[in-house]
Order: sequence, then structure tokens, then C-alpha cells
Amino acid sequence: MPLASDVAQTRCCVVGGGPAGVILAICLARRGVDVTLLEAHRDFDRAFRGDTLHPSTLELLDQLGWADDVLAIPHGRMTEVAFDVGDQTFSVVDLSVLKTRFPYVAILPQAKLLQFLVERGTAAFPKLVVRMQAKVDEFIRVQGQVVGVRYNSPDGHQELRADLVVAADGRFSSLRKRAGIEPIRTSTPMDVLWFRLSAKEGDPHEMHFRIDAGHLLVIVNRDDYWQLGLVIAKGSYHDLKQGGLEQMRELVAKLAPQFADRVHELAQWSDITPLVVEASRVPRWHQPGLLLIGDAAHVMSPVGGVGINVAIQDAVVAANLLAKPLLEGRLTEKNLMAVQRSRAWSVWLIQRLQSALHKRIVRGAIDPLKPFRPPWILRLPGVRKLAARLIAFGPVRVRIRGEKTPFV
Ligand SMILES: Cc1cc2nc3c(=O)[nH]c(=O)nc-3n(C[C@H](O)[C@H](O)[C@H](O)COP(=O)(O)OP(=O)(O)OC[C@H]3O[C@@H](n4cnc5c(N)ncnc54)[C@H](O)[C@@H]3O)c2cc1C
Repeated sequence: MPLASDVAQTRCCVVGGGPAGVILAICLARRGVDVTLLEAHRDFDRAFRGDTLHPSTLELLDQLGWADDVLAIPHGRMTEVAFDVGDQTFSVVDLSVLKTRFPYVAILPQAKLLQFLVERGTAAFPKLVVRMQAKVDEFIRVQGQVVGVRYNSPDGHQELRADLVVAADGRFSSLRKRAGIEPIRTSTPMDVLWFRLSAKEGDPHEMHFRIDAGHLLVIVNRDDYWQLGLVIAKGSYHDLKQGGLEQMRELVAKLAPQFADRVHELAQWSDITPLVVEASRVPRWHQPGLLLIGDAAHVMSPVGGVGINVAIQDAVVAANLLAKPLLEGRLTEKNLMAVQRSRAWSVWLIQRLQSALHKRIVRGAIDPLKPFRPPWILRLPGVRKLAARLIAFGPVRVRIRGEKTPFV
């Protein structure tokens, strides 16, 4: 057993270096709170997990003074969400009508964003400590209260004590399981098959959505390659696989003829990653000494591509509400409850809207028996503007509060 003096101590231990954990750690350290961020992986370069930075996130990065540098990283931009259906294009949302410095969604690799944030955050805020290859495997509890974690690192098994542990460890959160918190799941009508095809000189650059004959294909420009997502009816992956890879290649070539010359790059089924789409939220985001945020607290459907942005908004609100009590050493569960109160209704509302869009758009788009017709309501200018605001900012425009602590 380590001696008491050997046990590392911090004010806040954030578990998980995804968008939620990294932004929370930065916002707390900016206010002068001692934070240690523990991330299981060696780096941020891992499987595709979405790249969309909505106006809300770009505005928050701008508040930190980093938006221009983030946008200097090569990225794509999407101003309009439009579906190509046969030879017609239906515009669903136009972000250019919004009053913001960033009336678009930036499509920027998540790994590059996280790397940038960690480098910039640790350089700017001495209170921020980031430990990579630090996989948390259990809580330390005293009389039921979480008072720290134990984690594995290249230096062996370590302990870190903290006034608050934040589980920002993603959709499969092991900390959530360890805390015995069960998410409430809602059913979604679809799954997504993600795969990539090479980019070629002269390819168009924007992100597209194509709907044809009961299929919906999402096409994302990743600069040196294309990321494609084929939306399929829930549970139909097995049938598609039975049909054989050639049938899958033909389907992609039919939906997006510009890729007909390279569908052979799908050489085996392991080139295709099935994502089981789920939506869920936990009934309670906290226990004494523990808070859940981001995907650990709620998994959003991919509709609207808002998961990263909602996770970041959780982080900012948590830092706004918790920095002062953490600094003053008087954090109670009431403060954690305030974070849930501030964020849970917003998450609930977005999930309800996503569920309505599943019924009105996605289900129709992947129904092979009926031609797809976009809902007439989306032609009303007021509805389109409201949809643009919700996609851009969510139900509330979140801002980073509190002054940056001067560091000497
Ligand atoms: C295929 C796919 C496509 C997506 N596309 C989009 C999109 O286009 N737009 C969008 O907004 N959202 C998208 N999402 C959702 C988005 O990725 C998530 O909503 C977002 O990443 C959630 O952020 P987070 O910080 O809560 O969790 P995560 O990003 O999942 O981060 C959790 C982190 O915790 C670490 N971790 C886990 N366990 C431990 C442990 N025990 N100890 C230490 N560290 C641990 C993980 O390594 C990870 O880095 C997509 C998701 C998937 C899977």
C-alpha cells in the first residue's frame, strides 16, 4: 500500500479525453482549479467518431481565443444540409441565415481537434495535467462517497484522490457501470455502416446526403479520403452481408456514381464498420463525488450530428457551475444536481426532436417500398430557421462564464 504522502491528489479528476473531458478539464483549469485528465489511449488517433463542429462549439472555441487557430487546421465546411433525392435536391437547413461569426458546420477530424486542445490547454493553463495511457479501472470510495480512482498506466497501478471524479468516458462508460447507473434506452429505426474510399483529384468537396430506392448515404469529405455512412434499417446488416460484398459495392456505386471507379476498395467486410445506433440517457447524472457528462450520460442519435457539440455544452455548463465550489473546497452533491438540472432538459428535448426526425425523415428515406418525400413542414421559412438554430446551438446558447485566473 502506498503511504498517504505518496497518493496523488487533485481537485477534479476527469476520466476520458474525448470532447467532453478535454473541454471540461480546460475550462476548470482556466478558472484556476487543479485538474487531472486521465485518458486510456496513447493518442487521439482512433476509429472515426464524427467530425462535426457546429456554430455552438466554434463560438465556445472563439471565447477561449482559439477558433482561428482551430480553423487553420485543414477542414471542410457545410452551410446547408441538403438531400439529393434522384435528380432533385431538397434543402432541409440553411445555417447562413444565423447571426453568428460561424454560420456553418466545420468538418474537422476529431483527433486533430483533441490534439490541438490538449497542447494549447496544457501550455496555457498550468493547473491542467493530462495523463495519456491512464486507464481507470475502479473508484476509491469512503463511506459510499467517490473520493478518487485507481488506474493503470505504463508506470504501474496508480491512485488519484479528488474532490470530484467526472466520468466523461463515452457511450460504453465503464465508470457508469461501476457506479450501477443504468441508462434508459430509446429505440431508433436505423444502424449505420461506416467505410472509407479514396479521394481523387477533381472530386467535389462538400458533404452530401443521397437518398435513393430505400437507402440513405452520408458522404463526408476527409480531405485525403471520403468517409461514407450507409444508413440501413435497424438489424438489417446481417441480410445485407448475406447478399455478398459485390452487392454492397453495386449499391454504393448506384447511390453515388462518382465512386463507381473505386468501390473495389471495399475488399472485405472488415473494411466496413457497423455502428449500432442507439439513443439513451441516464436518469441521474451524479452520486456523491461523481458526475457523468457527455456520452457517458446520454448517447445521442447521429441525426443532426450533434453528439460532440452536446457533450461540449455539458462540459462548459459543468465548469461554469462547479469551478467556484471546487476552488473553495465546498463542493456538495447539490452542485452536481445543478449541472443535471441545467443540461438534462436540453438533452431530452434534442432526443425528442431526433426521434421525430427518425419517424418523419429517416424511416421514409430507408423504406424501399415508397418514394421518399421530404415533410412539407420543412418548406416553411419559420420552421427552417428554427431547425437551423436548434442544429447550430441546441435549445440554449451556452457560454463560458467566469474570468480566466491570471497565472504568474
Ligand atoms: C461512428 C461514429 C460517428 C459519429 N459521428 C458524429 C458526428 O458526425 N458528429 C457528432 O457530433 N457526433 C458524432 N458521433 C458521436 C460523438 O463521437 C460523441 O457524441 C462524442 O465523441 C462524445 O464525446 P465524449 O467526450 O462524451 O465521449 P468520447 O468521445 O467517446 O470520449 C471518451 C473518452 O474516454 C476514454 N476512456 C474510456 N474509458 C476510459 C477509462 N476507463 N479510463 C480512461 N479513459 C477512458 C476513451 O478512450 C475516449 O477517449 C459519432 C459517434 C460514432 C461512434
